[in-house]
Amino acid sequence: MALLVRFPFATFCILSSKSLLIPLNPVTPVRRVVSTFSVSASSSSFPPTRTDKVEDNSPSSSVTLKSTSTETTPAVTSTTTAVSKRWKPICLYYTQEKCTMMDDPLHLEKFTHDLSSGLQVNVADLENVRTQNLDYLLVLDLEGKVEILEFPVIIIDTKTLEFVDFFHRFVRPTKMSEKRVEEYIEGKYGKIGVDRVWHDTAITFEEVIQQFEIWTTNHHLWEPEHGGALHRAAFVTCGNWDLKTKVPQQCKDSSMKLPPYFMEWINLKDIYLNFYKRRATGMVTMMKELNMPLVGKHHLGIDDTKNIARVLQRILVDGALIQITARRSSSSLEKVEFLFKNRIV
Ligand SMILES: [Zn+2]
Repeated sequence: MALLVRFPFATFCILSSKSLLIPLNPVTPVRRVVSTFSVSASSSSFPPTRTDKVEDNSPSSSVTLKSTSTETTPAVTSTTTAVSKRWKPICLYYTQEKCTMMDDPLHLEKFTHDLSSGLQVNVADLENVRTQNLDYLLVLDLEGKVEILEFPVIIIDTKTLEFVDFFHRFVRPTKMSEKRVEEYIEGKYGKIGVDRVWHDTAITFEEVIQQFEIWTTNHHLWEPEHGGALHRAAFVTCGNWDLKTKVPQQCKDSSMKLPPYFMEWINLKDIYLNFYKRRATGMVTMMKELNMPLVGKHHLGIDDTKNIARVLQRILVDGALIQITARRSSSSLEKVEFLFKNRIV
């Protein structure tokens, strides 16, 4: 079908007193998705249909992230990533290698299949980037309080600050009854219109970890035969909850041993505190203080992960050294040592 629907996008400004925003040209062309991703479409056993609940109701916006702040130490002066000119929700079947509609123009018009959008960095912004001890940072932002429901990871290269790859899975709880899962998903993902894709795609945490280990091995970040920590890479989380509390709890619920690469991590809030010398209690606060707009759906794990990755890119651009902030004791797994004196408790 050659029916292409183009909505009249109005010129739009995000309301923020500090943000430097560029109003849009309403005829900004939609970025076309290239067909090189079609490999993933063939592996689907849960084909998405046009009844997906996710609606593209977001305004088109083009934002340059430039701070006007002068009172902070060090000064926040750099311009980092520019948010995609025409924001579209991510195809959540695609992120899980289950999209079968890559040749459907209407589907491509409605959903983006480019995870790197909004994470591009200008070469000019690399001027203050420090030499890091780690080559890759794996941003992780779990969703699910009772059991893990979503496991999204984005790799950022610490030299070029480029988006390298992503891993995303919805996770099916193991301990909860079907009825409880239904209610849980309705309450959490129903609100943002992605409950159907969750039900279509979620797999157990054990399966997620198996697939994740294949992915990390393919990226030469970890080898199952050697075990241990990630190779010249580390997880970056917003807070300690994800790896200090939630993953060990889920491993217990799933009757699994704690994988060895979850023994240390970087809490971005501690890095932020020690670098900018100011406290931020969460991702939204950090973004507000850095004059960065929140992109996507807050509390959709993959969108939050992208936003945290953007904050990380910004901190790198501003010249921070990214170091491990917490390490679990190998002799007593309950014990976590925090490596920064000043930290967010
Ligand atoms: Zn798709």
